Amino acid sequence: MKNAEIAEIFNDIADILEIEGENRFRIRAYRIAAQNIEDLNEDVEAVLRKEKLLDIPGIGKDLAGKIEEYVKRGKIKFYEDLKKSVSRPVLELMTIPGVGPKTAKLLCDRLKVKSINDLKKKASQGKIGNIFGVKEKKVENILRGIDFLKGSEGRTLLSHAVRVSFEVISQLKALAAAKKVVAAGSLRRMKETVQDIDILVTSNAPRRVTDAFTKLPEVKEVLAHGPTKSSVITRDAIQVDLRVVEPPSFGAALCYFTGSKSHNISLRKMAKRRGLKINEYGVFRVKTNKKIAGLDEEGLYKAIDLAYIPPELREDKGEIEAALRGKLPALIESKDIKGDLHVHSDASDGALSFEEIARACLKLGYEYVVITDHSKSLKIAGGLEQKALFENIKKIRKLNKKLKIRLLIGTEADILGDGRLDYPDSVLKELDFVIAAVHSGFKQPKDVITGRVIKAMDNKYVNMIAHPTGRLIGKREAYEIDMEKVFKKAKETNTTIEINAYPERLDLDDTSSRRAKELGIMLGIATDTHTINQFHNMIFGVSVARRAWLEKKNVLNTLDLERFLKRIRK
Ligand SMILES: [Zn+2]
Ligand SMILES: [Zn+2]
Repeated sequence: MKNAEIAEIFNDIADILEIEGENRFRIRAYRIAAQNIEDLNEDVEAVLRKEKLLDIPGIGKDLAGKIEEYVKRGKIKFYEDLKKSVSRPVLELMTIPGVGPKTAKLLCDRLKVKSINDLKKKASQGKIGNIFGVKEKKVENILRGIDFLKGSEGRTLLSHAVRVSFEVISQLKALAAAKKVVAAGSLRRMKETVQDIDILVTSNAPRRVTDAFTKLPEVKEVLAHGPTKSSVITRDAIQVDLRVVEPPSFGAALCYFTGSKSHNISLRKMAKRRGLKINEYGVFRVKTNKKIAGLDEEGLYKAIDLAYIPPELREDKGEIEAALRGKLPALIESKDIKGDLHVHSDASDGALSFEEIARACLKLGYEYVVITDHSKSLKIAGGLEQKALFENIKKIRKLNKKLKIRLLIGTEADILGDGRLDYPDSVLKELDFVIAAVHSGFKQPKDVITGRVIKAMDNKYVNMIAHPTGRLIGKREAYEIDMEKVFKKAKETNTTIEINAYPERLDLDDTSSRRAKELGIMLGIATDTHTINQFHNMIFGVSVARRAWLEKKNVLNTLDLERFLKRIRK
């Protein structure tokens, strides 16, 4: 699949055009195209063969031509020429969160910065301050950005790792020699980012499995190749480790390779106290070395007097104590979700019409979906003027008469710099569901941002706060916000807090969501969908919820339509 490569090139083109001060609509066109290609669940080459490139949202004749050129020649001349106009260092500096094209160019032009490391050195010598004048804060932000970048190095977004693991697993499953093929490791625990992908296979002919694995088309480099284990690097730079075990050890091996390490250490301690030992082959009596469990995980946990612990909880954060006392939560599941609460239509910056949204959600088995286009101040994202919003309300009410799913009309209203929303109450009261979110002023001090969000919750029409911390995993840190204060207000005003399921957001994260549950706050899992494939991101939001110990009753959109409507009428 060349999808990721093409998306990256389009993003690079947008970056360079930004440095050159090009027309912002042209820049945006490249970014939207990149996003849509990345979200495509079909090989872009196959789309080209069917001559359907123009059906991809955001792809016109010009971009379709560039895609074809890349597929056929492996490069795009326009891009190659464009790159010559910007120096490498500028491009490198732009990967630092918070460093835009202008700053990058300034640093390279005035300070002759050659790389990120060079920048760090010059910053520590106090040389950056000179060019920004007295703005110490700016220098601080750049240094933090560099540390942040180094900290996230080598980690891959869960959604991306899941996609790669599906491709590898489906091919291994086709092998006659492979019996069970499953993902283990942090991917099975659904951590928001993973270091590498662990795959476990049971087989009586392990060599055949490892041989086939190292020859998969995704493999770029083989790091190790043995009779029962192998490691490779894929073309999109993720390490995949394969382990093949005999079928009777499946459960023990799966538990061992799923981790976390500290969870497994606790399990071993429990076993020891019972005169048992656990390893990747099974559970054994210490005295006789007799194997008493290991075929499946349920049996393994049972052997040490524990209820089965779902992988998402295996972080040694109280799950073993809870399992001992029979107090494990009945974790929420994807099938409990009855509707999506955050969807953008083509009335603002989404790609889908109201009917297309309804059809997609009906297919997912939902009873309702809330359309939440941006409000008027977000001009860049096609925010709606009041008049257009009222027309949409009419349209949706009419549409509902012929639909088998309930479309609800809402908005993602912008929380302005002073905490007011950018629609007046007279507009908000006409809507079924109001989301409020911060989209600007990320660098404001903690008390200011916290104050804005709290003021928004005091508005009686606001139902939910979206992506409450504003972080983008690996790209942008959360803004400074006092979540304890936000939670307190949410409790007081009966406001739902979102777990935004967009793979780069996952905001709230697992730790904060668990805290919210403890405080009795309702959470809402929503996809923030802009294009058709993003509805499926719900599973990543559900994973955060599961890692946060959430049950069905803690999540707003597990309510059926009737109860949901009753609950949101404030
Ligand atoms: Zn938003
Ligand atoms: Zn949104």
